[in-house]
Amino acid sequence: MILNKIGQVLKSYDDFAIVSHVSPDGDSIGSMLGLYNTLIESGKKVDVFVEKNLPEKYSFLPGYKNIKTECNKQSRYSCLIILDCADILRLGELKDLINNCDISINIDHHISNSLNCNINYVDSNASSTGEIIYQILKLNGYNINYDTAMCLYTSILTDTGGFKYTNTTSITFSIVGDLINTGIKFSDIYSKIYDERTMYQIKLLGKVLPTLEVHFNNKVALLTLSNEMLKECNANENDAEDFVNYARNIDTVEVGIFIKQIDDLKCRVSLRSKNYIDVSQIASKFNGGGHIKAAGCTIEGNINEVKNKVLNAIKESLEVIK
Ligand code: 5GP
Ligand code: MN
Repeated sequence: MILNKIGQVLKSYDDFAIVSHVSPDGDSIGSMLGLYNTLIESGKKVDVFVEKNLPEKYSFLPGYKNIKTECNKQSRYSCLIILDCADILRLGELKDLINNCDISINIDHHISNSLNCNINYVDSNASSTGEIIYQILKLNGYNINYDTAMCLYTSILTDTGGFKYTNTTSITFSIVGDLINTGIKFSDIYSKIYDERTMYQIKLLGKVLPTLEVHFNNKVALLTLSNEMLKECNANENDAEDFVNYARNIDTVEVGIFIKQIDDLKCRVSLRSKNYIDVSQIASKFNGGGHIKAAGCTIEGNINEVKNKVLNAIKESLEVIK
């Protein structure tokens, strides 16, 4: 079985690089650090890499301060482990590590995963990559310590939207029950992730909410964020991580869109749906991807051009449904 094979590699190799997608979220950081803490405890040499933008929000996680944001192209590792990353483009510069290792492992829960490593394990029924890491560790006889439990709890918590998305299963809850038994302060973690906001985030939200537009009989809502807004609020792009939910949460809305300017030539787009639109299909029209109800992509153009491109693509999906 693949999970045992992964366990054999974890035990027989000595040095590891663990990476995930650019603009990492709670699942990427939580699953990387969960695995990191366990491998360190078992005496391995491990480097965790995040390309550039490391969100401050997860700085409470054990191991966070050891994450490296610079990776030497020549660095060589015996084993490279890629977590929560559906395709090679999403690895950014870290993709070079694939050619510089003896064995590569791809572990993910995105149905669209197209990475081709030496070992590939993709379980689209898992709520999060953190859930899969838990299973790998358990199945291979590892003790899940307090530090690893904090990280994996954060992974599962964030990818299930606080245990409310339909990807949450009874397996998710039994795993979380086991993690809680290590004594982690799950209520504090929940508050840090979902209640705590910086002043800059609230100021930025105040700029973004007035950009609200609704389209197609109020079924589609859209919010935008320009670089000027970031500057005016002394904020950075991570401060807008969950803003797309304000668009999606409107009662009449099926699809919420959040467009964030990167520069004059391209924007990042986040898409969220509620019931019947598969936003991963819309994102894949622009070489992006994700899940049925949460997806993203990068589209060329300024904010207005990107807005028109996305609305046209959504119009097509709404017409197919009609
Ligand atoms: P977000 O809107 O939070 O950036 O991303 C939502 C979901 O879509 C995440 O699960 C993420 O993995 C996926 N996603 C976002 N952007 C991309 C992209 O450019 N390519 C692919 N394949 N998936 C993406
Ligand atoms: Mn994930």
